[in-house]
Amino acid sequence: MSTESWTVSALARGGSQTSLQTLKFSPYWWEAAPPQAGLKPLPARVDVAIIGGGFTGLSAALTLLRRGRRVAVLERGVPGFGASTRNGGQVGSGNQKFRVKRLIELHGEAKAVAMLKDGVAMLDYLKELVTREGIECRFQQSGRFRAAMRPEHYEAMARDMEDLRRYAGVDSFAVPRAEQHKEIGSNRFFGGSVLPGDCGLHPGLYHQGLLHRVEAAGGVVLGQTGAEVVEPGTAGFTIHTARGKLVARNVIVATNGYTKHLNGYFDKRIVPVGSALIATETLPQALLDELVPKRRMYGNTNRVFFYFRAVPEDNAIVWGGRTGHLAAADSPRAYAHLARDMLQTFPQLAPYAITHGWSGQIGYTFDELPHLGTTPSGIHYAMGYCGTGVSRSTWFGHKIALQVLGDKEGHTAFDDIAFPSHAFHAFAPVMVPVVETWYRIRDTANI
Ligand SMILES: Cc1cc2nc3c(=O)[nH]c(=O)nc-3n(C[C@H](O)[C@H](O)[C@H](O)COP(=O)(O)OP(=O)(O)OC[C@H]3O[C@@H](n4cnc5c(N)ncnc54)[C@H](O)[C@@H]3O)c2cc1C
Repeated sequence: MSTESWTVSALARGGSQTSLQTLKFSPYWWEAAPPQAGLKPLPARVDVAIIGGGFTGLSAALTLLRRGRRVAVLERGVPGFGASTRNGGQVGSGNQKFRVKRLIELHGEAKAVAMLKDGVAMLDYLKELVTREGIECRFQQSGRFRAAMRPEHYEAMARDMEDLRRYAGVDSFAVPRAEQHKEIGSNRFFGGSVLPGDCGLHPGLYHQGLLHRVEAAGGVVLGQTGAEVVEPGTAGFTIHTARGKLVARNVIVATNGYTKHLNGYFDKRIVPVGSALIATETLPQALLDELVPKRRMYGNTNRVFFYFRAVPEDNAIVWGGRTGHLAAADSPRAYAHLARDMLQTFPQLAPYAITHGWSGQIGYTFDELPHLGTTPSGIHYAMGYCGTGVSRSTWFGHKIALQVLGDKEGHTAFDDIAFPSHAFHAFAPVMVPVVETWYRIRDTANI
């Protein structure tokens, strides 16, 4: 792995290196929770084979194992290779994608309210799971501060927060610009809103905790075991993998943004979109007290938004946003735009080192909603979290497992929403940078 050394200001300029600290092109979270290879013998037969070893797959596995099923989780890379150990660890109610009024316009009030309530249930379920399973993942109910990039964003956000309270009982409060220093040590914003119930966790430790619980319950999690073909038969499915085949009564596909060539059904419906993060070196406590006094999760109101947070115990800041499309993921240029955003928000960070830069893939859908269900050939799936997936994937994994079991508790408000495909789906990944550039222009020009 190549390493280079950069301060925030040097990275933002795309300029020269310093000797302060090395820059690693791998997830910060892997330092505390290094992924394990997971090379184990492939069982010949299980009740349920789960394809994809992220939060969706492991959460589904845990629910099935607790109900006495034999389960194998097949993972193409190391378990946790995908977005689940690469994300920002910001945990919301799964309701951030649409304004409430827009969701009602699109789906009608009854369906929109049911989806919003499920969103709240997702966060509640994750909290309950972490407590019940005793998973040590630096879980904190820190709340989230969403900063307004323009005065009119502040007004619109305040109205949306009222709707969220009215329709889904979600607590929030607005913070006017004059008081925002209580929330954030930056003059860049026009006030914001706080969702006190939102949470944060260490994604690497959360994934590792889930993995250990699955294995302790008798589940087999197999790394380097990419599923290549899923063949339906009379008694279930034969899954052909890179390391041989196994037979399962049921299959759950949990590959989200890493879905590719397994089954045409999913390729037509999921668009992989890159997302990137950087992490700073350990920062002085006093500086963090000034920048992020309440140690919340933070985001903004742009279409192409950035988000950040402090990491408890480590005192580093992790900062995320879009990928640098024109640069390789293991080159500093791929992260320069994130350093620039960081510097514009917190000029105080200029002399500190960036220690890690990495990226991952989120799974986008054509209706910007997550989906779960069964394909025409009887394969179960849960995917399409559109970038807000820590609570969604955990809950959808649990729910799809209940649906496999035929348990009516597996019912969700998303069950009867068709999973849309697009005639030009093959061009969608190519269009992502174009759409992002257009959105960025609109963010800058306010159009
Ligand atoms: C950079 C980044 C930042 C994010 N930040 C946040 C955040 O702060 N908050 C939030 O809520 N969400 C965030 N997300 C989204 C969230 O991480 C994901 O929605 C969630 O982790 C999805 O979990 P998953 O298990 O469905 O998929 P993944 O964790 O992506 O796992 C899918 C797995 O399937 C495997 N796979 C694919 N094909 C095969 C095959 N044929 N055979 C076997 N295995 C296969 C892949 O190797 C991969 O490991 C972020 C995502 C990214 C990329």
